[in-house]
Amino acid sequence: MLERLSSAVSPAVARVLDDALSGRELSTHDAVTLLGAEGPDLHALLQAADLARKEDVGDDITYVVCRNVNFTNVCYVGCSFCGFARHADEGGAFDRSDEELLAKCKDAVTRGATEVCIQGGIHPQKDHTHYRDILETIKAVHPDLHIHAYSPEEIDFGHKKSGMALADYLQWLVDAGLGTMPGTAAEILDDDVRKVLSPNKLMSARWEEIIRTAHSIGLRSTATLMYGHIEKPEHIANHLGILRNIQRDTGGFTEFVPLGFIHEKNTLYHHMGARAGATMNEDLRMIAVSRLFLRPWIKNIQVSWVKMGIKLGQMALCGGANDFGGTLMEESISRESGSDHGENTPAEDFRKYIREIGRMPVERSTTYEVLRRFEDPAEDPPSLEPDRQVELAGPERWRDGSRVRDIALPKPRLNTY
Ligand code: SF4
Repeated sequence: MLERLSSAVSPAVARVLDDALSGRELSTHDAVTLLGAEGPDLHALLQAADLARKEDVGDDITYVVCRNVNFTNVCYVGCSFCGFARHADEGGAFDRSDEELLAKCKDAVTRGATEVCIQGGIHPQKDHTHYRDILETIKAVHPDLHIHAYSPEEIDFGHKKSGMALADYLQWLVDAGLGTMPGTAAEILDDDVRKVLSPNKLMSARWEEIIRTAHSIGLRSTATLMYGHIEKPEHIANHLGILRNIQRDTGGFTEFVPLGFIHEKNTLYHHMGARAGATMNEDLRMIAVSRLFLRPWIKNIQVSWVKMGIKLGQMALCGGANDFGGTLMEESISRESGSDHGENTPAEDFRKYIREIGRMPVERSTTYEVLRRFEDPAEDPPSLEPDRQVELAGPERWRDGSRVRDIALPKPRLNTY
């Protein structure tokens, strides 16, 4: 019977999976082959990626306790996939004061965060000094909080205003407290695609220049890709190839995070004919192909629970991924484009979801140092979340708390039919 299962896999996919599991680097052609896997080929791909994940990083599933802080949503870059940006005179535009930023950081620390992730729109009234000021303001009060901040688009903007050499500008931010950089604003590293998605945004070569320069001064970053819009498998394969080359040269990426396109509330889908985000199969294939293509260079493959939702995220963690991402606490960018997977996944929920799929929850730092392994659920720390009041529904007399009973079922008997 098992032979029947394996013989259903097409020879082309079987050959690529065999290469990947034998430790051979896949070509971009191989990646395109895997990105088309369906049916038995897709099942084999997920199994192979899960096996590669186990060999590469073991059975732990990591997460980081962090808080997103968006300091402004004022932006005129005009990316067609963005539902977050506002012009300064529009309703809903915000530009956070130092007090507001510090209040969010204090909330993060109170809830156990080791990291704040700081990103914002490209506000035309700001300059390079604003980015440094934010770092100094936070570090003056929270010197131990890791600051993961500023996409290459923000760095590009600040750097051009600064008049400094790029490496000097990045070092100037590091000296003020910048810990790592999000490798966002990557979308698809192909200028034909970028000119459609965001013609005013930095192009591929500049993204790569900023990332390579950051890595060269020891400033590490994540790597990302946005899929499920107008791109073709060849674009994804080439993008993965660029990331693998960078990592081979610099070793500066901490992780790779594929980000599914959220289509509900933006012009890219409604007025420009993009696909309505990734299908479930595309989400799973993206994670699995990333694991196999990027090995052994990038070992941490993260699922974005904000984009995928928890259950599909759990599935992807059984098909090549090893990191559940961050608690986030607040999330505006995907929500404003129409994501409805929530803004906050508390650490205790991550531990529950990880144990549900039979794996070991591990809290990590931004740069993947193990902070704590949670081997025994009985020794889990208490929640640091504010009390969540649940309003019960149903007839009023059923909601009376005094009616609560412990559930104690007798051991069920298995019947024979
Ligand atoms: S994605 Fe970033 S740069 Fe583009 S419009 Fe939105 S906030 Fe501005």
